[in-house]
Amino acid sequence: MKAVRYGAIVEKVRDACMEANFKLADDVRAAVENARITEESPVGREILNQMLENAAIAEREQIAICQDTGFAVFFVELGDSVSIEGGTLVDAINEGVREGYREGYLRKSICHPLTRKNTGDNTPAIVHLELVPGDGLKILLAPKGAGSENMSRVAMLKPSDGLEGIKNLVIERVRESGANPCPPVVVGVGIGGTMEKAALIAKKAMLRPIGSLNPDPELAVLEADLLTKINDLGIGPQGLGGRTTALAVHIEIFPCHIASLPVAVNINCHASRHKEIVF
Ligand code: SF4
Repeated sequence: MKAVRYGAIVEKVRDACMEANFKLADDVRAAVENARITEESPVGREILNQMLENAAIAEREQIAICQDTGFAVFFVELGDSVSIEGGTLVDAINEGVREGYREGYLRKSICHPLTRKNTGDNTPAIVHLELVPGDGLKILLAPKGAGSENMSRVAMLKPSDGLEGIKNLVIERVRESGANPCPPVVVGVGIGGTMEKAALIAKKAMLRPIGSLNPDPELAVLEADLLTKINDLGIGPQGLGGRTTALAVHIEIFPCHIASLPVAVNINCHASRHKEIVF
């Protein structure tokens, strides 16, 4: 059995909250830099330049890339041979979020859904926990702003809608979202499972490193096809026109009921913040 201290998790989550918000992740930066070369629209190129300049200032000054520092969303893989010493894992994550958002002067955006009263410390975090074999503990943080999250959808398609129905849904979702999710976006698509499973795998898919190939060759082809069609929409950086509407489309699938075809689209913005912690 491997022991991981509660305090060590708090510290690492605290630091990750700040780093994810201050520093554009390497895969995102590389994708935006590449888009700056391939973008045909002068206005689009200028927007991409400004995004990179904004990210450079944020990293240098240790300030947030964007004012919406997001809901702290975590995907955790907890080994079945790991014990947490001194408290619970979820408590440690929430304490890390509390400290990170306070010390980093990151906006606290979480409120009661009806009264709209702010919780004051950006908690509770959203924690998706998966129990895996072994003695590892991997925590992936993805702060998610509302501008992009609000553009996401789950649809219960009919099985007869098939692949064409799925493609239409994804492309129309991006078209209708327009400039709202601060393009260029990263599009996560979850196909199958139940309603909630589709939504969960869409978000997980969205967080796959940009530039990585889907291990399923058929899905890799579908991702490339959807990316081309989305970039043909001409929405462009910040919705001001151009070829670069999306940096990537990532798909995950899961078996579904014979009478059902759930599809979820989760959209992330050009900041696509994420930071991984490994114990
Ligand atoms: S969509 Fe992203 S870049 Fe735009 S306001 Fe929200 S967090 Fe900021």
